[in-house]
Amino acid sequence: MNLFNANLGFFFLHLAQILILETLAWVIVWHFGNGWLITMFISLLLTVAQVQGAFLQHDMGHLSMFKKSKWNHLMQKFLMCHIQGLSAKWWNNRHFKHHVKTNIYPKDPDIDVGPLFVIGDLQPVKVCLHLCLEDIRLEILTSSMISEHLFF
Ligand SMILES: [Zn+2]
Repeated sequence: MNLFNANLGFFFLHLAQILILETLAWVIVWHFGNGWLITMFISLLLTVAQVQGAFLQHDMGHLSMFKKSKWNHLMQKFLMCHIQGLSAKWWNNRHFKHHVKTNIYPKDPDIDVGPLFVIGDLQPVKVCLHLCLEDIRLEILTSSMISEHLFF
């Protein structure tokens, strides 16, 4: 079934699609300017390019494109650092933690989404404790500033 033999033609077309969308966006801005409709259309093109780039660099991060890991890392750095403006090392570090402890809170960084979306039993408690500690620190700081102000 050749499941472990990557189809380089597929990956090449995937990368070509991203580069064409990015180039098309720049050419449209250069030719038509930056009006509202143009900006909305370009945003759509760049969103598709960024999402496709994320999928492609994910494959490269898992070393599934080339047989040599060096080429996978090189292409991932090109796509992540030059096309998407993110750090490949940052993504690898975060994504490896995700795959080692998938959906285990607080080990999986992909499910730690901050105080806006808290799920499960542990996240609300952790967020509340963090916010309460911030309030206590702020009260201590302001009370010490008031007492300093009274004494001096
Ligand atoms: Zn993955």
